[in-house]
Amino acid sequence: MLIDLRSDTLTLPTPGMKEAMFAAPIGDDVFGEDPTVNALEEKIAKLFGMEAAIFCPSGTMTNQIAIRLHTRIQTEVICHKYSHIYLYEGGGIMANSLASVKLLDGNLGKITAAQIDESINPDDVHAPETTLVSLENTMNKGGGSIYTLDEIKPIHSLCQQKGIKLHLDGARFFNALVETGESPADWGAHFDTISICLSKGLGCPIGSVLLGSKADIKQARKVRKVFGGGMRQAGFLAAAGIYALDHHIARLKEDHARARMLGEMLSKSPFVSEILPVATNIVIARLENTSPEEFMKKLADQNIKSVKFGKDLVRFVTHLDFGDDHLEEFGKRIQNI
Ligand SMILES: *Cc1c(COP(=O)(O)O)cnc(C)c1O
Repeated sequence: MLIDLRSDTLTLPTPGMKEAMFAAPIGDDVFGEDPTVNALEEKIAKLFGMEAAIFCPSGTMTNQIAIRLHTRIQTEVICHKYSHIYLYEGGGIMANSLASVKLLDGNLGKITAAQIDESINPDDVHAPETTLVSLENTMNKGGGSIYTLDEIKPIHSLCQQKGIKLHLDGARFFNALVETGESPADWGAHFDTISICLSKGLGCPIGSVLLGSKADIKQARKVRKVFGGGMRQAGFLAAAGIYALDHHIARLKEDHARARMLGEMLSKSPFVSEILPVATNIVIARLENTSPEEFMKKLADQNIKSVKFGKDLVRFVTHLDFGDDHLEEFGKRIQNI
């Protein structure tokens, strides 16, 4: 049995999800005529108490559209130095929006209002104008760490006071919400735009959604078109999204419980010096007396897949297709290493 913990993007649609996909009424979404895409966009916007939403092929696209909306040439984005928008989107801040970026450091990938306040550029001819702050929740490189709404409120007030937009990269946002018990609508009230991935823990094959005001989402449709993300009968994919919102949110807690147990199992390995705090479905192990390459080879010999996540780090992500039987098997195989 293969145990694939490289990412929560590897999941395959469940039978129920497939059924929903094939049963979906469809139309041409570039004409705004796909009833299932429209239903998904309305459903998720309502859930977050936001005016509108747009369905896109990827989370990179929803983030990059948001950055385009909230910046201009010669302006600047503030984010953590380990942000997905900076590290893993191919330099898109520059390539798509001709904007600059200010990278902040912070514990487990999180930044504070005080740090942001110090990093907003003065109104000065030498400096790019700060127009956007982007946060990530959960924070991938922070080991799936969580921002609580109490940490967001002062950041939101600061941005409002300074006239700066606030974006949330919520690729794994529901993983945070099932832990904190906070409501999506409370979060919706604190951000200009929110990006949600349907293709991660929620288990869809493809798709992300960008939420925002009517005006921003109208503009987002133009940006999506020029990015090549206008899809036609996309209702098949949107149906998977609707199904996931109805059936795959509460179960994320199971992924988190398995991640905590996986972390405990890994911590007993003689090659693991530390497990970063396991807040959600991501487990990051710090290695000793071996390299990520060597350790991953030993795991691969046991038919376990993982990814390198830094010079002495390896990442494991639990997901819909990793059940109790896989966890038990993992526990046995890790003892052979
Ligand atoms: C996966 C991910 C995205 C989007 O990735 P796509 O593969 O483009 O859908 C954005 N932000 C974070 C934190 C992610 O983990």
